[in-house]
Amino acid sequence: MKKPLSVYVHIPFCERRCGYCDFVSCTETEKINQYLSRLQTEILAFDFSKYLVKTIYIGGGTPSILNINQLTKLFDCLPTCHGEITIEVNPNSLSRAKCEAYRAVGINRISIGVQSFDLATLRDLGRLHDVKQAIDAIKLAHEYFDNISIDLIKDIPNHRYVTPPKEILAMIKHISIYSLTKDDHCVLDTDEPVNLPADFMRYEVSNYAREGYESKHNLVYWTGGEYIGFGAGAHSLLNNQRFCNSADIFNYQRETPVERTPEDIREEQIMLGLRLRTGVAMTLLKNKDNDLKLLAGHGLVTLTPTHVIATEAGLKVLNQIWLRLA
Ligand code: SF4
Repeated sequence: MKKPLSVYVHIPFCERRCGYCDFVSCTETEKINQYLSRLQTEILAFDFSKYLVKTIYIGGGTPSILNINQLTKLFDCLPTCHGEITIEVNPNSLSRAKCEAYRAVGINRISIGVQSFDLATLRDLGRLHDVKQAIDAIKLAHEYFDNISIDLIKDIPNHRYVTPPKEILAMIKHISIYSLTKDDHCVLDTDEPVNLPADFMRYEVSNYAREGYESKHNLVYWTGGEYIGFGAGAHSLLNNQRFCNSADIFNYQRETPVERTPEDIREEQIMLGLRLRTGVAMTLLKNKDNDLKLLAGHGLVTLTPTHVIATEAGLKVLNQIWLRLA
């Protein structure tokens, strides 16, 4: 029987670098074709025959920077996938023609990097789009796609988080909200309230979705499923080995795989499970009864007969909970 697999493809090009970004990306867009030909060689060298590809995620960088010809060539070498196929887009590089091309290659989920609905915040983050462009991009995507996600950032010093307008909330199915601090660009605590409609379920510490619209691709990462990453800086988990490509965009190499020990797996499962609404299986927490009672007594976790689930208060101190339970 074929094994389930998820596929990540990294497109590390942006029109301009944002001040807060530490993703693998560059602005040398004149070299996109050079990068793509290496990427195609890498993808075509992978033997997909043993796998059933469940999800594909085209991330970046700014994948919407690819023109239609480049996008089509990339999809020509990707495996068949009947599940979720996502592309990350920036509001200023989305167009009607690209939406049509995305549909034509099988993309069925759009993740739009809105980051904020406040113009001053967008300017200070170094984003190229304004609020109107973000709203227009969501409206355009909505004409073509049912499954739309937006990314937002909160807890930005001297800026306020602005809840998406009602008309936008009606068009989207998923929101990722990351917290920005001075020293660490994406952390887990959530100080500013996000004020979303009740039908957006917080299924992961930074992710909210309407029922059935959780990110299937990201859930593979968070539940220990197998995935292969292509492109500079892309990570993989395959055959119990973790490996990644180096971040050298035009000469990336696969680094030496690291075999996970049973203890590594257990610690990962606890850490990831604490982030999820489904929680951590009790079977991973033998001999932790006293710690669990203490954490529950402080209102940081809820205990069910089978799982430990971080409460809203617990989600703000996940690292401390993890240190007690790992
Ligand atoms: S658009 Fe995204 S990947 Fe590119 S520089 Fe800005 S935050 Fe980084």
